[in-house]
Amino acid sequence: MDTEASPFRSIAAQLRGAVKTCRGIASHAAKLALDIALPTLCVACREPVDGEGVCAKCWSKLSFIAAPFCPRLGIPFVYDPGPGMLSMEAIADPPAYARARAAVRYDDVARTLVHALKYQDRTDLAPAMGRWMTRAGLELLEGADALIPVPLHWRRGWSRRYNQSAALARVIARQSGVPLSGGALRRVRPTQQQIGLSRPQRASNVQGAFKVAADRQSDIQGRRVILIDDVLTSGATADACARALLRAKAASVDVLVFARVVDTHKAPI
Ligand SMILES: [Zn+2]
Repeated sequence: MDTEASPFRSIAAQLRGAVKTCRGIASHAAKLALDIALPTLCVACREPVDGEGVCAKCWSKLSFIAAPFCPRLGIPFVYDPGPGMLSMEAIADPPAYARARAAVRYDDVARTLVHALKYQDRTDLAPAMGRWMTRAGLELLEGADALIPVPLHWRRGWSRRYNQSAALARVIARQSGVPLSGGALRRVRPTQQQIGLSRPQRASNVQGAFKVAADRQSDIQGRRVILIDDVLTSGATADACARALLRAKAASVDVLVFARVVDTHKAPI
């Protein structure tokens, strides 16, 4: 995606930069005036768009996950095997968490959104992505007590400035009314990036990396919690987090992500 391709886009980028600067120093009114002057851009391709979110072209390229899917893993089925039927993956290798749901399949447009939110400071993407997640997770959110974002290690959080999972969780909390419980689950040791690791390597990389803070056990004990993350790949991170939450006596742990890799062999990250 080349954001500098047209003069229009670079002007918009400069204006956005100016808006950011304004946030710290100028009045709220000045920021508001600049915001109004800016056309809304598609969050994926940055073409002007009516309303917010993605343009019709990018929308059509997103693969929203809908029933039928595995009730355990949320993996879409190509045909409906009937109520309660689990996927082969769920039977062969059942996760520590109870249920996982994702808004979309992890493909090109989804990858663009995830990377922009994670690495390019595009926090403006969180509202749209969080809304889609709320819709995908309705079934889980109905009975839930708390949302738990997958934590970054403080060192990574420091360099990246914010946690994308927490940004998504804040939107879902606002939309669903399920409270966010930030800071209860901690990453107690830094882990290597999961990118490029095999499935067993991913599992051992995150094993023992998460822990519920001793002074926050009461936030988790007996609660039905939903773990929030941007992408579900092998499920190793979600599984390690779920184990930590279950050790702290969570009543149940479900997982809600923006995108999930549906076929790890066909869709490497
Ligand atoms: Zn677009």
